[in-house]
Amino acid sequence: MKKHNFSAGPCILPQEVFQKASEAVIEYNNEGLSLLEISHRSKSFVDIMEKARYLALELLGLEGKGYKALFLQGGASTQFLMVALNLLEKRAAYLNTGTWSDKAIKEAKIYDDILEVASSKDAGYNYIPKGFEIPSDHDYFHCTSNNTIYGTQMKSFPKSPIPVACDMSSDIFSRQLDFTQFDIIYAGAQKNIGPAGTTLVVVKEDVLGKVSRKIPSMMDYKVHISKSSMFNTPPVFSIYTSMLNLEWLKNLGGIKAIEEINEMKARVMYSEIDLNPLFKGYAAKEDRSNMNATFNLINEDLKETFETMLKEAGISGLSGHRSVGGYRASMYNAMPLDSVKALVEVMSELELKA
Ligand SMILES: *Cc1c(COP(=O)(O)O)cnc(C)c1O
Repeated sequence: MKKHNFSAGPCILPQEVFQKASEAVIEYNNEGLSLLEISHRSKSFVDIMEKARYLALELLGLEGKGYKALFLQGGASTQFLMVALNLLEKRAAYLNTGTWSDKAIKEAKIYDDILEVASSKDAGYNYIPKGFEIPSDHDYFHCTSNNTIYGTQMKSFPKSPIPVACDMSSDIFSRQLDFTQFDIIYAGAQKNIGPAGTTLVVVKEDVLGKVSRKIPSMMDYKVHISKSSMFNTPPVFSIYTSMLNLEWLKNLGGIKAIEEINEMKARVMYSEIDLNPLFKGYAAKEDRSNMNATFNLINEDLKETFETMLKEAGISGLSGHRSVGGYRASMYNAMPLDSVKALVEVMSELELKA
């Protein structure tokens, strides 16, 4: 039986995407060859790459606006370094909203001093700092739109006098935003795009080419742009499956349609967390993420009973991140409302039992 998958990443993808991807592994497009054995320079694969790049820009509303989409390797973690290499000349400004921001700051510090405009570290990163200033004499501002580990999400973004780089690994394609307010958007595929192995980078071309350092080819956005995201052999399976998933999203009605579904799932989840006296939420209410809901049992004695019930209901992947503990329900785009309802049902059954 297929489980209700609340895993934070790698995570759920639509069943039809799994089906089509697995068929292509056996034979791609009646060509007598597997997707995994054709040349990445073949017309078949070049078409897949171009379609994936186009769909990414189209869904974000960034087509024809000076942006390029790239499917790179090395995860979001490599982007922590790449953003700094490509944009950091004197000093950059970072918002620290958790472990991932902190890691981005650490990489940028290799190249220069970093200004931390604000941090929620003192409160276990359970909220998003607000009301800070972004200095205009810095090279760029970096933020993390959704903090996967703590279940916080930036609901709005500060006006910035300098270019903005945003790590959207865990909420890209989940909600409508004016994406033109960002100059670099990056996201590891394995949370809302596709399988692990590729990272989507959307970059506004006019922010590039302004640093004086030499940039190694594999780290240089301009090199990847000039080679149409095929400077070297790309991760063909991850990109093909990501393309299928973006196609699925487009057929569903795009970001506008999925946002409504995501809001409904979050409402169902958070109302149970708030109304059920056995649980308490981790993140500050106004900053709660629609992708990752974090919560704890108030009485730890119920842990074993709760977890047995979860298991019996086929609910998987609900453990909180090791640094926070408790539970985390990740409700990415492909998660059906029914799975959230199944979880909420177990939580209310526990209330009846306790
Ligand atoms: C998962 C995650 C990362 C790390 O991504 P990798 O692809 O594993 O490097 C970075 N940032 C955020 C917000 C994440 O959720």
